Amino acid sequence: MISRDEVLELKIESVAFEGKSIARVDGFVVFVAGGVPGDVVKARVYKKKKDYAEAKIVEILSPSAHRVEAPCDYFGYCGGCRWQHLDYAEQLRFKRQHVIDALERTGGLKIEVDPIIGAEEVYRYRNKIEVTFSGRPYWIHEGDPATVALGFHAPGRFDKTIDIRHCHLADENINAILNWFREAIDPQSNINREFELTIYDSMQHAGLLRFLTIRKSFDSGEYMVNLVVLEEEERIGRLAEMLHRDLPFVSTFATIVNRSRAQIATGEVGRVHFGSGYITEKLGKYRFRISPLSFFQTNTLQAEKLYGAALEGVGQKQEVIYDLYSGTGSISIYLSDIAEKVYGFELIESAVKDAEENSRLNGVSNVRFFRTDLLDLFKGSDPVGNFGGLGIPEPDLILLDPPRSGLHPKIASNLHLLGAQKIVYVSCNPMTQARDVKEIVSHGYALVSSQPVDMFPQTYHIENVLTLRKV
Ligand code: SAH
Repeated sequence: MISRDEVLELKIESVAFEGKSIARVDGFVVFVAGGVPGDVVKARVYKKKKDYAEAKIVEILSPSAHRVEAPCDYFGYCGGCRWQHLDYAEQLRFKRQHVIDALERTGGLKIEVDPIIGAEEVYRYRNKIEVTFSGRPYWIHEGDPATVALGFHAPGRFDKTIDIRHCHLADENINAILNWFREAIDPQSNINREFELTIYDSMQHAGLLRFLTIRKSFDSGEYMVNLVVLEEEERIGRLAEMLHRDLPFVSTFATIVNRSRAQIATGEVGRVHFGSGYITEKLGKYRFRISPLSFFQTNTLQAEKLYGAALEGVGQKQEVIYDLYSGTGSISIYLSDIAEKVYGFELIESAVKDAEENSRLNGVSNVRFFRTDLLDLFKGSDPVGNFGGLGIPEPDLILLDPPRSGLHPKIASNLHLLGAQKIVYVSCNPMTQARDVKEIVSHGYALVSSQPVDMFPQTYHIENVLTLRKV
């Protein structure tokens, strides 16, 4: 029997979700943080439950052939990239396997899953990073001097922030902006002496600086900086001038004001201190305006591949497409060429506004967006009547791109009532996707294809495009 504090010699067999790996002792599962399949390790048990134990590596006795050196100083502390120690081919293999397992185990569905579409750029791929200003740094090493931090939350420690000096998922300009602000909050720096910047403290609901969001357009090379603050203050204007002078590649700077206690990097757009207040990115032949509060896929290059996979799923030209969970309309617009009419449905008003703006920007006139709660349309006895009430024709094809939690059960069970010949389901969570598709299939649809796309190298996340046909 395994007991707490015991040191075991383990051979890592596979990876589990959330970056843990799995080993077995006489069939008993031991989760090991940071193991790579093929590693032989010594690990100390720190948790013992009825069905499993958790252990921490003390020594790697023989490394796996797939183990690589993680380039990041914060690897193992920061929750962002859990798989930097796994070579990329192996990451892709596990991601595809995760899709297969979810479909089989959660969905009871068997289908040949297509080879995963991997990324060419496996670092520096993000077009956005969002960091927190904090007066409570997470000390990685005993005696770390920092008293303030700008970076990501330490996993499981929502009150603490890791001071990130370099994020490998972002390019050097994004990192330069990050470090400019780090210097600005350093109590010893000239910038701070001049501006007396304070950091927001959630207990006291006081302090100026809350979050920093940096975005980049891969197409135009523009950079947008958004500072989330408790209040709009005059000194932010002077800080912006200084940033503009020091880092001329920053194209635009705007504040976002968040007066609420909720620690979220959003609020109302405040002053645009310089530049236009937005950047423009391109996906395929379409251009998208990204404003401080707009949602946009964070990996531009892979977003094109994901939408390409959706386009492939759609196949030949359609009369009427419904894009459910249309967000800022990027998929609707991307599909506008291959349909007579596209109707997008989205809950958030500002996203619908962005979607309409983006259609205009691209001269696309055959898409229309509805601001609506999809649950309202699907509940009750007559979803078809609810959609009909909007004065639009029935769909030939439905595209779905819901949040991670997937479809509401009412939507999954009533979707078939709309009678679409085809359904294309884009998901960032294979588990909820498999659960939903199991339901959809039970109402007379068959799986046609499954195409995984890797949007987030170095993490365990995976997107999957499933295509279904009415039988
Ligand atoms: N395809 C979109 C992104 C979809 S993300 C794009 O490319 O921009 C999922 C979207 O679903 C979010 O915009 C969210 O606001 C929306 N959403 C969540 N619940 C909803 C509901 N009940 N009804 C309508 N939209 C919803």
